[in-house]
Amino acid sequence: ATPRSAPADAHDVIRVRGARENNLRGISLDIPKRRLTVFTGVSGSGKSSLVFGTIAAESQRMINETYSSFIQGFMASLARPDVDDLQGLTTAIIVDQERMGANVRSTVGTVTDANAYLRTLFSTLAEPHVGGPGAYSFNVPSVTAAGAMTVQKGAKTIAEKTSFSRVGGMCPRCEGMGHISDVDLAELYDESLSLDEGPFTIPNYAAGGWYVKIFASSGFFPSDKPIASFTTRQLHDFLYKEPTKVKIDGVNMTYEGLIPKIQKSILSKDRDALQPHVRAFVDRAVKFVTCPECEGTRLAEHARTSRIDGVSIADVTAWQITDLATWVEGLRERHLGPTVSPLLTNLAALLSSFVTIGLGYLSLDRPSGTLSGGESQRTKMIRHLGSALTDVTYVFDEPTIGLHPHDIATMNQLLLALRDKGNTVLVVEHKPETIAIADHAVDLGPRAGSHGGELQYEGDVAGLRASDTLTGRHLDRRVTLKEQTRESTGALAIRGADQHNLRDVDVDIPLGVLTVITGVAGSGKSSLVHGSLPRDVEVTVVDQGAIRGSRRSNPATYTGLLEPIRKAFAKANGVKPALFSNNSEGACPVCKGAGVIFTELGFMETVSTPCEECEGRRFQAAVLEYRLGTANIADVLEMSVEEALEHFTTEGSAVPAAAKLLRHMDEVGLGYLTIGQPMTTLSGGERQRLKLATHMGDTGGILVLDEPTTGLHLADVGNLLTLLDRLVDSGKTVIVIEHHQAVMAHADHLIDLGPGAGVDGGQVVFEGTPAQLVAEASSLTATHLRQYVG
Ligand code: ADP
Ligand code: ADP
Ligand code: ZN
Ligand code: ZN
Repeated sequence: ATPRSAPADAHDVIRVRGARENNLRGISLDIPKRRLTVFTGVSGSGKSSLVFGTIAAESQRMINETYSSFIQGFMASLARPDVDDLQGLTTAIIVDQERMGANVRSTVGTVTDANAYLRTLFSTLAEPHVGGPGAYSFNVPSVTAAGAMTVQKGAKTIAEKTSFSRVGGMCPRCEGMGHISDVDLAELYDESLSLDEGPFTIPNYAAGGWYVKIFASSGFFPSDKPIASFTTRQLHDFLYKEPTKVKIDGVNMTYEGLIPKIQKSILSKDRDALQPHVRAFVDRAVKFVTCPECEGTRLAEHARTSRIDGVSIADVTAWQITDLATWVEGLRERHLGPTVSPLLTNLAALLSSFVTIGLGYLSLDRPSGTLSGGESQRTKMIRHLGSALTDVTYVFDEPTIGLHPHDIATMNQLLLALRDKGNTVLVVEHKPETIAIADHAVDLGPRAGSHGGELQYEGDVAGLRASDTLTGRHLDRRVTLKEQTRESTGALAIRGADQHNLRDVDVDIPLGVLTVITGVAGSGKSSLVHGSLPRDVEVTVVDQGAIRGSRRSNPATYTGLLEPIRKAFAKANGVKPALFSNNSEGACPVCKGAGVIFTELGFMETVSTPCEECEGRRFQAAVLEYRLGTANIADVLEMSVEEALEHFTTEGSAVPAAAKLLRHMDEVGLGYLTIGQPMTTLSGGERQRLKLATHMGDTGGILVLDEPTTGLHLADVGNLLTLLDRLVDSGKTVIVIEHHQAVMAHADHLIDLGPGAGVDGGQVVFEGTPAQLVAEASSLTATHLRQYVG
């Protein structure tokens, strides 16, 4: 018999042929299965377009197609990625850094199921509670996450899936959210005025209007007396009365108290969909306060009060996970019964994976929305480590973000463990320490945007190292310690800082220089920089967080770039500037200038599909007849920063104010970015650099950056350092949280926190120049920097 040769569609590779998503130039490659493949290349070279936009997207689309058409009706209709052929895909699971903040009830404990184990544990072992459920007064309107607002009814739907409610252990007052939204009455009306005088400061409640008339004529309270003089009963009817039939001017109407009324008409709406003045009203009027009933523990009274060895479930979820793990080990030794023992074993294994992954310093009650991007990604990873699934394609986006070189070794072990369970692991990464462990490497480039999208290298890491690619040339690059450090012009004194884990920290941050804050994840860097700076100094924080704003926002609107461009279009064509704004009369009437149609699915994520009317171009056809130079406004929004810079500096279409902003965007390394790309498609690193671009023109002040090397190729870190130098030389104080050795080495001043994470951290373990750190210090940072100098 002849041996079988591998079939053409060999099942041991993911076969990609002719990938053209975004900037990809029809690339073809084979990715080995059950191996760890790293994707490298400068920011904007096309790594995400290949890994997320093509491979993972197609896998998810095909899985969606296997559902019944009924369920598919509820799911995003994903477009097929632009690729000729894809073979050998398996189920793709994306483990990204998007923060898990969508649901306010979610905590570290709920998203990893640790709370489910704890509840079973407490219901099995805890002593019975004393007392009944607490009474609660009227139900104030509830608003969920800051941003998206939902009616309580809708939220209860969601609640079916959340653990605080499943056990009936959920606090009835706040419905398991830990906080209640309180409407600030002072923002609703002026109580010194009567209804006849038009006391309301709510949008659409102007004096003489229909809404006000219903109140004034309801008969439940006097309309000519100041609201402040209402009796308790009258005030209650005014604010909270349930829907009641009344007759006004002979017309049958329904009267309802002010709070439920605005709850329905304003507060329950998607914040982004509100008109700007209504949104501003909501932001002013709605405040979150800790729930007075459960004091923020989210639990009903009986769940709050049952105890094991004197401690309640709320106590243990507030502990640092390392301490909880020790407590659970103690229980395991004492409870060997057949029901409890397996439960304790599973819980112990789950908790130990937190410790292994470097998150032992967290507590289970930590709202998942407060985790950093890197912490969110690692928390998601915990779910998969314990998973019984194999032959899955796991896709990671820079898993080392937020990790000190010391923590990277642990992360590497976890990536390898996922691979060794029989999974295909795809990692987009820039850090040499993680590139080094890959079985296979794919390098894209040579540069970003239209200058990228080509395969530069595929093969093993040794080959990448030896290759003449940008990545290969930088992989073994050493760092040089700064010899001439700048002299400070003063100091920012922090005294007795005790935010989170900080232990009464006294430290001086020098002014007028570049300070780099270092330390392992969880050591207290963010707590120091974001929570402890003196209140009277003006600090600009440039972080990777989501940018609040409407769905129509994009880099052009966010940076203010569109303003001068619209004016120039208007002037050149003798029409109004507003025509060129995608939220005004020039906008496509169907999608209202979004270019896509959003479908709200209530309990599921909102789905967007391209607008068929304008084909995603956002404007009315007539508006697109107007040109500035060679381009219309939709063409402009499709330009990259580089292309736009060229266009707006060319005679006939020059717009100096726009060119200035575009130059700043180019300087921060975003030359490849499409200026009209929806803000929601930007990565954390891109958002941060975009924010930075808007501050490039400022003089003086204190600028705080959180891991600005995120998303940057080794070759671009040098440009970032030049940029930071320019900011300092222009008179700014620049404070940077960083793990990248080249940035540490370039600091004028280093502040190293540690020695460990959580309760083992929170102290300043070194202050001084990089040269001093390498020469003298014994901290983890010193050890790791030493290895890179030379
Ligand atoms: P990388 O992951 O290597 O940083 P990307 O795949 O994100 O690169 O980007 C490659 C190119 O595609 C860039 O020019 C980028 O601006 C563009 N791009 C990425 N996403 C979108 C999008 N949603 N719409 C338009 N252009 C995009
Ligand atoms: P780093 O920035 O060095 O990673 P952080 O300042 O984020 O460290 O965290 C230091 C400690 O403070 C950790 O134990 C962390 O869990 C805790 N912590 C940070 N942010 C919060 C928060 N919003 N609520 C509660 N604890 C927090
Ligand atoms: Zn409560
Ligand atoms: Zn449209």
